[in-house]
Amino acid sequence: MRTQTPFLAFFLAMGLSPSWAAEGHQPVCGADALGTSRTLSVGPRGGLEVGLKTYPQTLPLRDHEVALTFDDGPNAKTTPMVLDALSHECVKATFFLIGRHAQDLPKLVQREIADGHAVGHHTFSHPAITLRRMSTAAAEADIDQGFRADDLAAYGAAGAGPRVPFFRFPGFADTPEVDRWLASRNIAVFGADLWASDWQMMTPATELALVMGRLQKTKGGIVLFHDTKSSTARMMPAFLRALKANGYRIVALVPGDGTAQTRAAPAGWSSETDRIINQVFHAEDAKAHRPGDSDAPAARHAATAPDTLPKRETPP
Ligand SMILES: [Zn+2]
Repeated sequence: MRTQTPFLAFFLAMGLSPSWAAEGHQPVCGADALGTSRTLSVGPRGGLEVGLKTYPQTLPLRDHEVALTFDDGPNAKTTPMVLDALSHECVKATFFLIGRHAQDLPKLVQREIADGHAVGHHTFSHPAITLRRMSTAAAEADIDQGFRADDLAAYGAAGAGPRVPFFRFPGFADTPEVDRWLASRNIAVFGADLWASDWQMMTPATELALVMGRLQKTKGGIVLFHDTKSSTARMMPAFLRALKANGYRIVALVPGDGTAQTRAAPAGWSSETDRIINQVFHAEDAKAHRPGDSDAPAARHAATAPDTLPKRETPP
């Protein structure tokens, strides 16, 4: 290639592929940047369910390897802040989009792809009652509508199935029927190994301390954030620096076409998200049956959203 700069020729001669060489518009990241250490091919043939908060197996990440995931976007204000922070450190992540948000902000979806991130799916409407409390037909219709809206925003066209076969249930509230349907379509279902609890109001400094403390315990894994949350967007630059300072390495997830590789949960595993969802549903049902209470159950679910999950969970 006659147009190679000596710098690029050096990388190519070394067998390295700097991200900016492939994408052209990426910043050149110096040795000090966190960077992306490797790509993990997630082969969803026959389905795949990963993330120890919900499933008894997870991705085969090594000690101190981290896969960053962001749900519920895009958001006009906070998603660009997250993308800027990731780009600055040459870090690749996975975004699980809400279809109606993607439909409204296609340029941000296109930027996620141009920046080298994976764009997965998180339903069209993110129903407040969760898919678990909908009919299987209605749940599958919302998921399919989300696939189409996301792919139309991302690529200007939608096929019979999603181009990137990655899906995450709102509130991790899956059902055996919908799980089987996704598996039959070779779609991988993502839980998380740890989360930032950014559905709670907290300062960026508190969120940073919380997630770094949790990472220290899990020694890495699939981390759940929401790129719609201001605290997450504002702490992202400091978080990525903290990952670098503490020896964590970033793994980018890409769709594969083989059999899924997974790592089994430790003995005694149980689903934390199911425990929380059952508590929330139980409390909702008790309240719904109280005389004189006129709120619709769905409205109360909305009040405990986003993601239904642990409103009452307090940082350690
Ligand atoms: Zn969500």
